Amino acid sequence: MNKVMISVKDLHKKYGSFHAVKGISFEVLEGEIFGLLGPNGAGKSTTLEIIETLREKTSGEIWVNGMNLEEAPNEIKKIIGVQLQSSGYYPGLNLTELITLFAGLYNRDVDPLTLLDKVNLRDKQKAKYKELSGGQKQRFSIATTLINQPKIIFLDEPTTGLDPQARRNLWELIKNIRAQGTTVIITTHYMDEAEVLCDRVAIIDNGNIIALNSPDQLIDELVATGFERPKEVKQANLEDVFIHLTGHEFKN
Ligand code: ADP
Repeated sequence: MNKVMISVKDLHKKYGSFHAVKGISFEVLEGEIFGLLGPNGAGKSTTLEIIETLREKTSGEIWVNGMNLEEAPNEIKKIIGVQLQSSGYYPGLNLTELITLFAGLYNRDVDPLTLLDKVNLRDKQKAKYKELSGGQKQRFSIATTLINQPKIIFLDEPTTGLDPQARRNLWELIKNIRAQGTTVIITTHYMDEAEVLCDRVAIIDNGNIIALNSPDQLIDELVATGFERPKEVKQANLEDVFIHLTGHEFKN
């Protein structure tokens, strides 16, 4: 069995008297793409930010790559990649300069062009962040998670607001990152995306995990209860038309 990269045990988070995360436990295995799904306000970002060492937990135990979060937060920071807020992208700098700056902060020697190649942005090396399209911005933001060559990356709704092609391009990128051995934790509101990308998903509602399994198993469990979706009468949908007409390549 794969090694456990993240272990969360009975995690609680209270904001004042509000109990946002109510004792959740889960494990993420090495090389997995693990999805955290759930309605707005369920507690996904809170959970991710606690694991990322950016937020204090109220109680519970967290281990990342065998290290206890309370004992070794700085060691944990070195092996995780977190998307920066876009406000961190100094407006006067182009993409190459931003990567060089972040690499300096991480004390890493990184070739900006090699990194931009990974996310198909070499031709934008001299562009400013604000000049990028939505898909390009997300790809750049994913590139910044890779600067410290992390073992685990955290992606919080990386495809929200993107067009269908840009979403698919991002899926390929995320699969490539995983193929190179990186463990990925992702949140998304797109269930088709979770189905395509995630090996396993945890569904969080109201601060509790209400289901945790592979998308396939969860669907089979639902079908086994007798659930049946109204039959689709057409062999394609409007998204298929959009993709068919506009193509798949990295142009946005
Ligand atoms: P999700 O990412 O699933 O949308 P969040 O983790 O952002 O959920 O939020 C979970 C709950 O905790 C929400 O009800 C939210 O309003 C609340 N919450 C999040 N951050 C804070 C905070 N800093 N102070 C008070 N309440 C917060």
